[in-house]
Amino acid sequence: MRFIPFNSKAYDEYLQRQFIREQMRHPDFERSITAWFQPKICLETGRCTGFEALARWFHPEAGAISPMEFIPIAENTGMILPLTIKILKDTRNLLEAILSFSDLSGSFRISFNLSPVLVNSDTLTILEEWVKDTNITGNLEVEITEGIMLKTSEDILQLFHNWREDGIHFSIDDFGTGYSNLSYLQSFDADILKIDKRFIDGLPENGKNVSLVKAIILMARAFGMKIIAEGVETTAQADFLKSAGCDEVQGYLFSKPLKLEDAAAFYKSNLSAPVK
Ligand code: C2E
Ligand code: CA
Ligand code: CA
Repeated sequence: MRFIPFNSKAYDEYLQRQFIREQMRHPDFERSITAWFQPKICLETGRCTGFEALARWFHPEAGAISPMEFIPIAENTGMILPLTIKILKDTRNLLEAILSFSDLSGSFRISFNLSPVLVNSDTLTILEEWVKDTNITGNLEVEITEGIMLKTSEDILQLFHNWREDGIHFSIDDFGTGYSNLSYLQSFDADILKIDKRFIDGLPENGKNVSLVKAIILMARAFGMKIIAEGVETTAQADFLKSAGCDEVQGYLFSKPLKLEDAAAFYKSNLSAPVK
């Protein structure tokens, strides 16, 4: 008889996935998902230029469950569409909260993450109709990954083009972590390039990261894109990025993701802070 060693960690992970899968079937699942919002800061002025909406799930018994755990399961179970619509509803609510005390300029944007499994004609049409109905297109940005850009067909590019016509902006998320084939940049005009945290982590000591980040910034500029760096945790990183010509930053140095009321309060107090 052959014995297979019992791997308790793998078994625990399997049970956790089963638990998440079951809990997602609960009628209250959509309501228990909320968007938290991480500020994006302009390096030149110190002003908050917008937020990224990030899904949070607070389970009554299990507590906070990480999106790294539940997003892949939502993608496999079809729950990612209602989840994304809930994130967009919360985004609309934050925009309304901010509009109650500030005239939002067209350059203010809240971004949301578009899962690759939602990139098909039916779903993109549903999402487009939803955002058009709510009138938030001018302040909305969609974060897509390089993987999405590489698998897009002409139909999908046309749909994205329609989104752009509606006023929705596009950013390339996690840049540099997907594929080395950059030809998609020729066929699609993204407005913003987000440099992934893994390139920011070693700054400014790691010479390779310094060269990479400088090269990414030059390339994005050549394509007329704005550049935002993710996962900025230290002043040294922010100083380096500013001197290298990066436009905006997002990271714990400025703020962790905030619940809706705190995000509105952050924006309000940032508005009245002196420009750097
Ligand atoms: P992402 O889109 O790359 O989001 C950035 C992640 O980095 C967030 O983790 C954010 O909280 C974290 N972060 C931001 N600044 C810092 C920092 O200074 N230090 C560190 N250590 N981390 C920082 P989070 O919220 O856990 O989300 C993880 C991933 O889950 C996201 O990565 C995204 O891929 C996915 N995700 C989150 N919400 C959604 C959603 O609504 N839809 C989809 N499709 N994916 C989502
Ligand atoms: Ca993102
Ligand atoms: Ca990212």
